[in-house]
Amino acid sequence: MSNENGIEKQSEKTASIKLSPRQERSLKKVLSNQKYRVINVVEIIARDNVPGMMDRMDMCTCSKCACDVLAIALNALPTKYVTTDAGKQYIQLQTYKKQFETDVEIALMRACLTVKEAPNHDEPENG
Ligand SMILES: [Zn+2]
Repeated sequence: MSNENGIEKQSEKTASIKLSPRQERSLKKVLSNQKYRVINVVEIIARDNVPGMMDRMDMCTCSKCACDVLAIALNALPTKYVTTDAGKQYIQLQTYKKQFETDVEIALMRACLTVKEAPNHDEPENG
């Protein structure tokens, strides 16, 4: 009799650790929450700076070249993931901008030179 009780308690413990499909679903929902999101601040800063840098470099600004510049720059940069609060994202970004802007600018400039020297677009898009 006491033996049976012991077994029962053990299986209860195991069951409480394993997530039910329903719990898993609600956890996924939590991760796609709108208030808090995970973003790579370096990527956002780089994206913001691509048009300005390409302008300064006097190069082709077609969407293929712009994407290539961003991709090359991001591969050379560290990633910085942070949890953002939807209401405070702007303030958080300003803080990280100071920290990463110089690195981002150098990476973008090198990427622009690479793309300018050997553009990978099929046909130049003028206009
Ligand atoms: Zn181009």
